[in-house]
Amino acid sequence: MTKYTATQIVIINEIICLIIYLIYEIKHHFNYFCKPNYNTLNAQNILVLFIGLVIFNFLFTTVLEYLNDKNWKDDIPEDLKDFYDSEKYLKAKNYKIDRGKLSSLSSSISFVFTLAMLYFFGFGLLSDLANSFSDSIILQSSIFFMILYLFNFIIGIPFSYYSTFVIEEKYGFNKTDIKTFITDKIKGLIMTSLFIIGLTSLAVFVIQYFPNGFWIWLWIGLSLLMILLNMFYADLIVPIFNKLTPLDDGDLRYKIENYSKKVGYSLKNIFVIDGSKRSSKANAFFSGLGPRKTIALYDTLIEKYTDEELVSVLAHEVGHYKKKHILFSMILTIIQLGVMCYLFELCMSFNMIANSLGSSNMNFHIGIIAFSFLYSPVGLIIGILMNMLSRKNEFEADEYAKSTYDGDSLSLALKKLSVDSLSNIYPHPLYVFVHYSHPPLIQRLSKLK
Ligand SMILES: [Zn+2]
Repeated sequence: MTKYTATQIVIINEIICLIIYLIYEIKHHFNYFCKPNYNTLNAQNILVLFIGLVIFNFLFTTVLEYLNDKNWKDDIPEDLKDFYDSEKYLKAKNYKIDRGKLSSLSSSISFVFTLAMLYFFGFGLLSDLANSFSDSIILQSSIFFMILYLFNFIIGIPFSYYSTFVIEEKYGFNKTDIKTFITDKIKGLIMTSLFIIGLTSLAVFVIQYFPNGFWIWLWIGLSLLMILLNMFYADLIVPIFNKLTPLDDGDLRYKIENYSKKVGYSLKNIFVIDGSKRSSKANAFFSGLGPRKTIALYDTLIEKYTDEELVSVLAHEVGHYKKKHILFSMILTIIQLGVMCYLFELCMSFNMIANSLGSSNMNFHIGIIAFSFLYSPVGLIIGILMNMLSRKNEFEADEYAKSTYDGDSLSLALKKLSVDSLSNIYPHPLYVFVHYSHPPLIQRLSKLK
């Protein structure tokens, strides 16, 4: 049982009082800004619900992070004794703490900002501002989202600078120079802007064209987009940020092709990606569907791992494909998209929801903001279920790699990957339950034995 100090109890008490005070305060505040409304389901109560959800999300995340930080143990697990000395183990712990501090600062700022936007009807005011620029609904919504995005982008720059050049640098991961950092930011800015404007235009167009039952068309459009992005990710998106070169005709290529042939896996491309341009952390990704399957290995991975370890990682990925995990999770995502689109149309039909955000009329952008608050608890539950499924799939893919290739090489690769990236080897079970798409290392190793 955790013991709380007197100061901690006082702080917790203060937070609870503040929340209760805030909820009562909203009642007065709302009457001051808007015409009072005496129905039970009214804009004022919806605003209280929004604020309650934002507070819940923040507290939930904070408590989980706190539990996870407290869960570090001082002893190194038997399996990893050969990979860690006590100095490196301490380094992993400090790395986690440093990153945790930065992320809690960032989420606290966004928490306060979101509360202020709700309390002072910031979304309604911003919507009025965006609507004053043009009569076109497409432009209005695009301007609204671009203002929010740009604001977020600018606030995020010091955080991402600190993360890359202070924290990652301190632990020896950073390989990014300031030039790459700036060009990455500019490319990201352009791509995201195009994405926001493109998606907003399409969605608003669909809603105008099919005022009733637009959710089906929105669903079809979003599903197609997701499938296309999945198919062409390696061909279209990755080359914007990285250089992909085909893997040389050497031992490794021979071993990969040999294994693929043996298990009947059609591979279109094997690439090496210049991950070392940004970080010393090793990685690999697999993308594409059907005959377009691509594997990209980070140069940092090839450098540090043996051919057998690399093929065992590939065997794990092939396992996902052979066990139909990829197909199945795509189908689940499409179903989830359908539910979201349907609920979104439902949300758009209540003008009262727009009033709660300070906008006199419902429109696409206000609808999206309101929906993002209302959907958050549903999203949390669906996320937990998807993570449970994903963790089960990871064990199955490990098992596939063990039976078709070599479990020991995979164990070695997993240990090295975990130690090299200084990842947390004692995550809190509740944190794993909510956030982890992969089982913790220790569990995977014991199943592979
Ligand atoms: Zn996997």
